[in-house]
Amino acid sequence: MVPVKSRTRFAPSVTGHLHLGHLMNAIHVWGLARTWGAEVALRLEDHDRRRFRPEYESSILDDLDWLGLAPDLGRTFEFRTGSTPWRQSSATARYDRALVHLAERGLVYACDCSRAAVGTEAAPGEEPRYAGTCRDRGLPFDGHRLRVRLDPGSETFDDLRLGRQEQRPDQQCGDFAIRDANGDWTYQFAVTVDDMSQEISLVIRGEDLLASTGRQIRLARLLGRDRAPAYYHHPLVVGADGRKLSKREFAKGIGDLRAEGRSPGSVLGEAAYLGGLIAQPRPLAVEETPGLFR
Ligand code: GLU
Repeated sequence: MVPVKSRTRFAPSVTGHLHLGHLMNAIHVWGLARTWGAEVALRLEDHDRRRFRPEYESSILDDLDWLGLAPDLGRTFEFRTGSTPWRQSSATARYDRALVHLAERGLVYACDCSRAAVGTEAAPGEEPRYAGTCRDRGLPFDGHRLRVRLDPGSETFDDLRLGRQEQRPDQQCGDFAIRDANGDWTYQFAVTVDDMSQEISLVIRGEDLLASTGRQIRLARLLGRDRAPAYYHHPLVVGADGRKLSKREFAKGIGDLRAEGRSPGSVLGEAAYLGGLIAQPRPLAVEETPGLFR
């Protein structure tokens, strides 16, 4: 049998510029991929067409290049010579097929509940859970939000850093949206289809996305994926005094740091320091990232 190479991905949303939080993710993606012999695929997550801007895409690609973070797949460099990188906006046929797959099994329905109506049911600080109000109304798909029907049951997975996790998507969020009323695919849906079609076997991302994992494993199974990827959820960057980074600190893009005359190594080192990977700020080369995880 031909051994299957494991593959992870770096998947920035094209809704802003890269910041230190993305670099904390990139350090994990490249560092762990090189440690475990996995390939790195680039995916430009541009499913949110209202927040997408073409200038974000070019700045993301340019910053990756400047930092020396070269993906093995996803074609950043061919992009530079006129070819295109892997974008969600080019994958719409795959999303349509996935929707048909679910709809044929009676797993999709349309919903016209307002976001506010769903949100008011949640206790403060809790995620709103959709109660399934529109499940049996038979609304037409066109012009409405689409939701996936979730049966009760838990999803269990062994996070490579956090250990065994058990989640109940039907209780946490209920039937979640897969497409908005305006036709935009949601994050949960796009990322699940992409992780299948890009054959991602290892997902490395921040622990702010931990609660999404059970529902993505469930959705992937409904779409016919028989083996879930492995997951590694890493800590997030925090301010130097241990508190969460403020909006303003987060707003500081890699481009701003470049404009201050910083070197790629010092910017990577700052992300690693704010993420608790190194004890003191110091320049960090991409080649050194696997050493952070030994
Ligand atoms: N696009 C997401 C982000 O930039 C990451 C999605 C994921 O890793 O699942 O936060």
